[in-house]
Amino acid sequence: MTDDATQGERWITLSPGSTNCYLLDADEGYLLIDTGYEWEYRSFVEQLADVGVDVAEIEYLLLTHHHDDHVGFANELLDGVTVIAHEAADELLRAGENDRSGGGLLNRRVYYLAKLRSWLVPEWDLTFPPVALRDDDLLVDGDDDRLLGELGIDGTILHTPGHTPDSISVLLDDGTLFCGDAAMSRPLWAGIKYHTIFIADVDRYYESWRKILDSSAETVYPAHGDPFDVDRLRENLGAYSDEALIETDPITSQADFG
Ligand SMILES: [Zn+2]
Repeated sequence: MTDDATQGERWITLSPGSTNCYLLDADEGYLLIDTGYEWEYRSFVEQLADVGVDVAEIEYLLLTHHHDDHVGFANELLDGVTVIAHEAADELLRAGENDRSGGGLLNRRVYYLAKLRSWLVPEWDLTFPPVALRDDDLLVDGDDDRLLGELGIDGTILHTPGHTPDSISVLLDDGTLFCGDAAMSRPLWAGIKYHTIFIADVDRYYESWRKILDSSAETVYPAHGDPFDVDRLRENLGAYSDEALIETDPITSQADFG
């Protein structure tokens, strides 16, 4: 096990790049929550090897949403793997680029951070290899309290839109919440207050936070940053308004990233 990998009772955190991927123990093999960017696959496989898991042991890939840093190397894993996603992801995954309709960046610091990043990481262009879901893949149309149990995972899927329409989270029965980008803890110094750096729909975003707060979630494991207590969401609920969002993207005038 490397410093990059931590292990819970029945799951492992992998961080091949800027995205945390969570590997959950299922009855048959593993369920992986999210991938990283397209160019992070090699690092992902190395981290898997470090924790003694073979790629072929991944049986399910749950995509919390369609963004480039979550589905980038999904196609590398698809063979023999069942994808789990929200039904709104189907079309967005086929498009191969982050949906740019609605919302904006959280604040000015995030805007300049993105601008800086676009210089440092020129391959970052908000696109990803299109993912074509198949008949056997599993799409949920809202909250789902049945599917994970059938795979041997004690938990439920929550529809947590707002960052994107297709955002879903995994809530384990022990209070662990894997929230994708429904919340995040990096970079807190940029004043994000546990919000994701891009929000498509603020009203739906806070509706999702309320759903999380009304659930049995105790500790939030985001796709970006360290885990935090769910109370952080209660304390920061409503901190940003639609008017406060910055609609122009620093890279190409497109209004989406993260
Ligand atoms: Zn995202």
